[in-house]
Amino acid sequence: MSDGSSFYITTPIFYVNDVPHIGHAYTEVASDVLARWHRQAGDDTWFLTGTDEHGQKILRTATANGVSPKEWADRLVATAWQPLLATIDISNDDFIRTTDERHEKNVQLFLQRLFDAGYIYTGDYEGFYCVGCEEYKQPTDLVDGTGQYEGVQVCAIHSKPVELLQERNYFFRMSDFTDRLLDLYESNPEFIQPESVRNEIVAFVRRGLNDLSISRQSFDWGIKVPWDDTHVVYVWFDALLNYITAAGYGSDDARFEELWPATHIVGKDIARFHAVIWPAMLMAAGLAVPKQVFGHGWLLVGGEKMSKSKLTGIAPNQITDTFGSDAFRYYFMSAITFGQDGSFSWEDLSARYQAELANGFGNLASRVIAMVIKYVDGRVPDAGTLTDAEEGLRALERTVVAEADAAIERLAIQDALTSIWQLVDQLNGYITVQEPWKLSKNPEDRARLETVLATVVHGVGTLAVLLSPVIPEATTKLWQALGGVGDIADVPIRQAYDWQGVGRVEALAPLFPRVETIEGAA
Ligand SMILES: [Zn+2]
Repeated sequence: MSDGSSFYITTPIFYVNDVPHIGHAYTEVASDVLARWHRQAGDDTWFLTGTDEHGQKILRTATANGVSPKEWADRLVATAWQPLLATIDISNDDFIRTTDERHEKNVQLFLQRLFDAGYIYTGDYEGFYCVGCEEYKQPTDLVDGTGQYEGVQVCAIHSKPVELLQERNYFFRMSDFTDRLLDLYESNPEFIQPESVRNEIVAFVRRGLNDLSISRQSFDWGIKVPWDDTHVVYVWFDALLNYITAAGYGSDDARFEELWPATHIVGKDIARFHAVIWPAMLMAAGLAVPKQVFGHGWLLVGGEKMSKSKLTGIAPNQITDTFGSDAFRYYFMSAITFGQDGSFSWEDLSARYQAELANGFGNLASRVIAMVIKYVDGRVPDAGTLTDAEEGLRALERTVVAEADAAIERLAIQDALTSIWQLVDQLNGYITVQEPWKLSKNPEDRARLETVLATVVHGVGTLAVLLSPVIPEATTKLWQALGGVGDIADVPIRQAYDWQGVGRVEALAPLFPRVETIEGAA
């Protein structure tokens, strides 16, 4: 079991046959910001992402494309999923594929242990199956179809008809865990967050759990059930196990002990799998439950959930090609309250880019460096006598660091940015009031000018350190220009106000240049 200073964070593993859209990128960026923050705080951090490659849906897509499912998965990982991580600057420590040997072998080990412990039995199952969801649906999960599906019941998520399947399956005794799960939710309210997701899941489990069908015989693209190779493992059971097989379960027990349990960042639509099935599986295996399951909201475009099947998918590089990866990261972290639904629009992105990144932070950084070069020849002066204005800014730097760290601790990324932005605004206000351009004209104001410049350089350096998990590219350039010592990612973020510089600045090109044309804007 890891201590408090270790931080293992995961994204869901993504279905290879989807094309990445900004919803996937949003999850990746949020997890990445949290991972970078903890890493920079010196916590023992491990950030896992990857791809989910088994199941009937993938088999069908591969067959339709005339290749084997493994070839299909290889192609999508290489051409879509790995490139996504580069496009949005993701700092993952590991990338697991459910076709990795380290995964397949230890899924079988896990399953065999559950079987030996008596948690698995054989039974018949008949139900409505949604291939899109890869799960059996309860009648209450279905809605009336529209358009071409008028008159039939369809999956509420996919708006497509479900299939009536009957199978002889292996079942996991999930119903045994109803009370233990309710105890977990009650004794550890942080286990599922935010509150809205927690309430929904608690209500669901209170109605009582059914046993879970965990094998399929109707297709063979999956991990074979170790004691019966005519069955493959149900894709969700297979997929959830990535979080421990990647951490060394079955292959490196010491490593696993160190890392586990993890914080899982997931979309709220799959929180139920992570907060019900997954802890029940872990309990059955005698393993610790996750530290937390956080179900973030949906991105809405024109009021609809962002997804390929709804034809509203926007590729992340449509945004990064124009605005850059930092702007992508900043926008989704600041404009949307993590845990709630949020609307994306090109107009909002463009407005925030201009107001907050270009005019707010970017312009502050450029001005400060330009003034040091112009008025004191690029040498960062020492501060002389401090007035209340300077003392106030120094105190604010410390307050902002503490507030932002506390916000990250509760996964409130937008609150962290709101805190940090107080410093952007106060530094801009300070420059307006102090008018260093006037001080520079009178030799008798030299000491005062130096104090003002020392103060703003210090504040901007603190901002660079604090913003480095969110906008790593711009802050790396800024750090270089400020003469910051070492790699910015190594500067302890919880002491950001204690950063060290070499005492000289260098010219800085605009961090967020004006965007002239906005592709896709209305
Ligand atoms: Zn569905």
